[in-house]
Amino acid sequence: MPQSHATPQAPKRYLYGPGPTQVEDSVYQAMANNVVGHLDPYFFEVAGDVRARLRTVFGTSNELTLAISGTGSSGMETAVANFVEPGVKFGVLSAGFFAERIAEMARRHGATVVKADKPWGETFSDAEAREFILRERPQLVAFVHAETSTGALQSPAAICQAAHEVGALVIADTVTSLGAVPVEVDLHGIDIAYSCSQKGLSCPPGLSPVTVSPRAVERLDARKTPCDVWYLDLKLLRDYYDGKKYHHTASATLMYALREALRLVDVEGAKIRWNRHRESHEYFVRKIEAMGLGMHVAPGHRIPNLNTVRTPEGVDDAKVRSRLLTEHGIEVAGGFGPLAGKIFRIGLMGPLATRDGVDFFLNAFQQCLK
Ligand code: PLP
Repeated sequence: MPQSHATPQAPKRYLYGPGPTQVEDSVYQAMANNVVGHLDPYFFEVAGDVRARLRTVFGTSNELTLAISGTGSSGMETAVANFVEPGVKFGVLSAGFFAERIAEMARRHGATVVKADKPWGETFSDAEAREFILRERPQLVAFVHAETSTGALQSPAAICQAAHEVGALVIADTVTSLGAVPVEVDLHGIDIAYSCSQKGLSCPPGLSPVTVSPRAVERLDARKTPCDVWYLDLKLLRDYYDGKKYHHTASATLMYALREALRLVDVEGAKIRWNRHRESHEYFVRKIEAMGLGMHVAPGHRIPNLNTVRTPEGVDDAKVRSRLLTEHGIEVAGGFGPLAGKIFRIGLMGPLATRDGVDFFLNAFQQCLK
C-alpha cells in the first residue's frame, strides 16, 4: 500500500459523554510545547504550578497534593493502596459502578470490605451514612462524590463527620466533580481525594490529581508495611515531587496540558465556572422535560455536569448513540449494569457547558430520537 506523508488526522468530535470532555484549543497548544526531562528544573516549575492550582480547585491547603501519572483509576488505586494494610476494615457507601470498583480494589489489597448499598441513582441520606459508619466503625470510609454511572451527587458532610467520630479516614472519588462542582476538601474534612484530568477540567486523560490531608499523611508515615504498588507509592512520589529524586518518567506534555486547563479555571474563576455548569444543567433539564423526557435522578441529587436521561419506551439507546456519532460527530454514553439500555449519560462540561452547547446537543438528539 502506498504510504501517505500527511500526518493522520483524528476526526473532530463533540464530546458530550461522561469523559473525555471537549479540550480547549489553548490546552492543545500547550501540549505542542518542547518536551523537557522529568527532572528538569522547568518540569518541576510546571509541576509546582499544577500542585498549587490543584489545591485551589480541591479547596485545600494540603501540602501533599499532586498529579499522579495515570487515569482516574490510578488515583483510586493510589488512595486504596497507600491506606489499606491487610485486614483493615474498609467501608464503602455504594450506589453505582465506581463505588463497586473501589470496593473491589480494597479487597484485592487485603482489606475486609463492608458495604452499605442503595439502588443505582439514589444517594445516602445523612442519617443512613451515619448509621452505617457508627455501626461498622471502619478504619477507612470511601464514597463517590459524583457517581458517573448513575448521575447522582453524594453530599460529603455527614459521611466525613461520622467517619471522623470513629477515627476513620475518608476517601472521596471526585473524578467527575472536580473543576465543575465545588469539592471543598478542607471544609468537609475529606482526607484523601482523587480525580482525573479528562472530565471537569477538560484536559486529555492521563493524569490523576490526588490530595492527602495532614492526618492521612501521619497515617501514611506510620505504615508498618510498604505500599504494595510501587508505582503509586505516595512516599516515593513525595520524594520525586518534593525531593526531586527520580521515580518514573512523568510526562511533561500532560503536565503542560493540565497546567493550562487549571489556568483556564483560574482565569474564569472557580465559582463562576461551577455556576456556569449548574445553570447549563438547569437549562438542559427544563428543555429535556419540555421534550417529554425524564431525568433518572431525583431533583436536588443530580450531578450538574453529568445528566442521566431515561431512555424513552421503545427507543434503542445504542442506535441513537450511533446516529449521534456518525451523523453529528457527537459522543454520549449509555448506562452500565442495571442501567444498561435505560439511560443516556450526557456530559455538559468545560466549553460545552453553555446554553449554546445545550441547544446544539438537543437539536441533534431530537433528530436522532425520531
Ligand atoms: N471514578 C469515577 C466516578 C469515574 O467516573 C471514573 C471514570 O469514568 C473512574 C473513577 C475511573 O477513571 P478512569 O477511567 O479515568 O480510569
